[in-house]
Amino acid sequence: MSAELVTFGCRLNTNESEVMRGHAQRAGLDDAVIVNTCAVTGEAVRQARQTIRRIRRENPQKTIIVTGCAAQTDADSFAAMPEVDRVVGNIEKLDPTTWTRIDSTGRKSVTDIMAVRQTAMAPIEGIEGRARAIVQVQNGCDHRCTFCVIPFGRGNSRSVPVDDVVAQVRTLAANGYREIVLTGVDITSYGEHLPDAPKLGALVRRVLKEVPEIERLRLSSIDSVEADADLLDAFADEARLMPHLHLSLQAGDDLVLKRMKRRHSRADAIAFCKKVRRLRPDIVFGADIIAGFPTEDEAMFTRSLDLVAECELTHLHVFPFSPRPGTPAARMPQVARPIIKERAARLREKGETALRRHLHAQVGKTLRVLTEYAPIGHTEQFTAVRFASAPIPGRIIDVHIAGHDGRRLIAA
Ligand code: SF4
Repeated sequence: MSAELVTFGCRLNTNESEVMRGHAQRAGLDDAVIVNTCAVTGEAVRQARQTIRRIRRENPQKTIIVTGCAAQTDADSFAAMPEVDRVVGNIEKLDPTTWTRIDSTGRKSVTDIMAVRQTAMAPIEGIEGRARAIVQVQNGCDHRCTFCVIPFGRGNSRSVPVDDVVAQVRTLAANGYREIVLTGVDITSYGEHLPDAPKLGALVRRVLKEVPEIERLRLSSIDSVEADADLLDAFADEARLMPHLHLSLQAGDDLVLKRMKRRHSRADAIAFCKKVRRLRPDIVFGADIIAGFPTEDEAMFTRSLDLVAECELTHLHVFPFSPRPGTPAARMPQVARPIIKERAARLREKGETALRRHLHAQVGKTLRVLTEYAPIGHTEQFTAVRFASAPIPGRIIDVHIAGHDGRRLIAA
């Protein structure tokens, strides 16, 4: 038996939960539940608290340890919860000694994450119950977008040396993984603080060159305006680099982007998508867009709606604006909640229409699909495929597409 992991939020958290699973196992922490929280929205924090209360109700004897970005940014309020035994910071959670000494570290072991300068690779052997392995290449962020608390949960940007990333990918390939996702908080700032400052494009090429067993390399969300030229060229000439990019666009209006302290303009986003599509015609784009950012009026919102078509986005993640405590955006004139909800619904609808158009275009084709631990797989474009029954996980197979259900393709 080993500790139970409950993971919220991003792929980085999924990777780190795997690191903690190993540390907890080696420390013999069999009766613990580790809750790896997210702080990106108020809703994510609310769900974490609700889950902690449920776990305590269902497991009166277990040791409940809370970590992750919500614990890092608001340690005292989690430590004040009677259900919680320990609160562990985002740096401490990756340190094996935290887990061997967990009974003697007091209720809180959370240090100043802004003081952290380097990221050592915390290697993993795999991701339990996943056919796609997630590798952390970067952490933290040097930007300060006005709506975002991530830098306060993750610290400043730091990168894992290229050799360590290659070694990690090699281990995962040896353990049977055919698809790898490179992840971080702001991966397009990869390498900025490393000797020789290697860029993300160089990292991608090194991984593909030195680990030929990996059939698919995927990137997690990127900041398009920071993408380096070599990375774009890699999309043109590396077939094993998957034709799917998730973009952190956030809005389609330049004044809103300025008030968000984003580094790109509407025109930059559109030009980026056109350029990458010229280099890699089969590429598809997903994007994060916030609905109802403070001061956003109907005309500004309409420019976010129009961005879906102008960038030909297919996989949309819509975030109703959520004021995060301590952020500049939380102090700006807020849009009324009902309007935020209504705009988010219109944006989702736009996204669903775009996805349906993409799904419809795949019907009748035979696509390469990675099979996973459910009757679901994913194409190279990261489109979900539903199987009648769960195939053997972790294989890449040719699948004839018979139809779609508006959200997923249906295998013949
Ligand atoms: S780039 Fe902006 S939105 Fe992304 S993590 Fe950094 S501060 Fe947050």
